[in-house]
Amino acid sequence: MRTIGLIGGMSWESTVTYYQLINEAVHQRLGGLHSAKIVLWSVEFDEIEKCQSSGNWSKSAEILSNAAQGLEMAGADVVLICTNTMHKVADEVAQAVNIPLLHIADATADALASQAISRVGLLGTKYTMQQDFLKQRLTHRGLEVLVPNEADMEMINEVIFKELCVGQIKPESKVKFLEVIDKLKNQGAQGVILGCTEIGLLVKQTDTDMPVFDTTDIHAMAAVRFALAEN
Ligand code: GLU
Repeated sequence: MRTIGLIGGMSWESTVTYYQLINEAVHQRLGGLHSAKIVLWSVEFDEIEKCQSSGNWSKSAEILSNAAQGLEMAGADVVLICTNTMHKVADEVAQAVNIPLLHIADATADALASQAISRVGLLGTKYTMQQDFLKQRLTHRGLEVLVPNEADMEMINEVIFKELCVGQIKPESKVKFLEVIDKLKNQGAQGVILGCTEIGLLVKQTDTDMPVFDTTDIHAMAAVRFALAEN
């Protein structure tokens, strides 16, 4: 079994989900007492958020590159950045190590392709929804990506940073997210990407008839397939 390296802590609320999903999937496949080999490097999220809000992406690239090198030295065979937003610096992080980086957008594009979805809504932080680093990776795979309107983007971003990243799951926020998903559906989206690793804590597939693509789940399962050499 290969060892999975996780750069987590962005936020730690969603890193918990990665850890749990990966171990559950390995156990489900191998049975008995089997569990995943994982090395976790958990960053101080306040430092990362300050880099994001001040636009100091090079500093965050340095922090995450150091983390990736630490994971490689600790024996990881692959590295995952456990957040969509910080894939803004994925290329720099990938270049800092000799092990592969499993990109969250590639795993998501694979999942969408397997369901023959070509037009998809994207929910995430304002960075993920407004900037190109993630959307472009999806459009290069032939996908049309729809994002919410300005006011909805603002609301979603607020909920992510002020509620989900600090462990607050509020029913009223769930209702608002589901309304945004409905609007995207009315605009022709065939599915919606939960393109922030905490959104799955709030919105589940059982809440909507719109096909939901939870990037945490998708990314974690890609790691499991890599670890068990299923690809
Ligand atoms: N975990 C979130 C994401 O997937 C947001 C936290 C962050 O800004 O890294 O984008």
